[in-house]
Amino acid sequence: MRLIHSIDEMCGIISGARHEGKTIGLVPTMGALHAGHLTLVGRARQECDFVVVSVFVNPTQFGPSEDFHKYPRTLESDSRKCESGGVDVVFSPSAGDMYPEGFDTWVDVKGPTDVLEGQSRPGHFRGVATVCAKLFNIVEPDRAYFGTKDYQQLQVIKKMTRDLNMRLEIVPVEIVRERDGLAMSSRNAYLDSREREAALVLSRSLDLARQTFASGEHNAKAIKTRVLNLIAAEPLARVDYVAVVDAETLDSIETIDRPAAVLLAVRIGSTRLIDNTVLD
Ligand code: AMP
Repeated sequence: MRLIHSIDEMCGIISGARHEGKTIGLVPTMGALHAGHLTLVGRARQECDFVVVSVFVNPTQFGPSEDFHKYPRTLESDSRKCESGGVDVVFSPSAGDMYPEGFDTWVDVKGPTDVLEGQSRPGHFRGVATVCAKLFNIVEPDRAYFGTKDYQQLQVIKKMTRDLNMRLEIVPVEIVRERDGLAMSSRNAYLDSREREAALVLSRSLDLARQTFASGEHNAKAIKTRVLNLIAAEPLARVDYVAVVDAETLDSIETIDRPAAVLLAVRIGSTRLIDNTVLD
C-alpha cells in the first residue's frame, strides 16, 4: 500500500492503473477511521481492482464555529487500517494543495442542500460537493462509496453526479452501528461516558419511529412528535432538527405513502451527532 500526499503523483498512479485496465474504487473520508469506514473499504475491495481511500479533513465544509481544528487526525493508524483492509493507495493531500492561492471555483448543488444540514450548517454542502468533485477528477473512480449515515450528503452527491454528467457510480453503504445501536462516527470520540450513554437516544428514537410506523401510524407529524418526546426526556440531549421527509427529494411530507427518511441532528453536550432511518 502507498501513502500519497501529492496530487500529481496520485494522478500518475491512476493513469498507470487505468492503463492496466483496472477498475478504480474511491472511498472519500476525513480519517479517524472506524469500522463504518472500513465497511465502505471492504465493499470497494470486493467490487474494484484498485482501491483509493482519501483522508482529507476538508476545511471548506466546516463553519467558522465548528470543530475543524479539534477534528481527530490519525493518519498513521488510518494507514495501518487501510493496509489491513487491502487498500492500494491512501491519498492524503494538504489543504494548501487542494485549495491553492487563487482557488475560486465552487460546486453549489441546489435543492437537497437548502434544508436540514444545509440550513444548520451554511456552506457545508458547497464544501462537500466541491471537494468530492475535485477528488473525482483526481482519482477518476468508476465507483465511489458513501455511507447512508450522512443521508443528505449522499443525496447531494448523487444529484451532483447526475446534474454534471459525472461518469461514475455512487454506491450507498448501510450505517454501521456499535453493538448498543449508536451509529459509528469519528465524532463519538468527543463523548465522555455519561454523554456516550445519553447518545443512545438517537438510535432509540429511530427504533421508536420504525415501531410506530410498523404499527400502522403513517402520519409524519405524529411520528416526529414521538421522536421529539423521547429525545426531550434525555437531559443531555438538545435537538437541532428532527424531520420526516421524502427519502429521495428530502421534501417534507405529511403522510408516509412513499419511502420516507427520518433524519435527526442532536447535540449531546457540545457534540453534534446525526443519524437516520428509512421507513418503507
Ligand atoms: P467521514 O470521514 O465522517 O466524512 O465519513 C466518510 C464516509 O464514511 C462517508 O461516506 C460517511 O457516510 C461514511 N460513514 C461514516 N460513518 C459511517 C457509519 N457508521 N456507517 C457507514 N458509513 C459511515
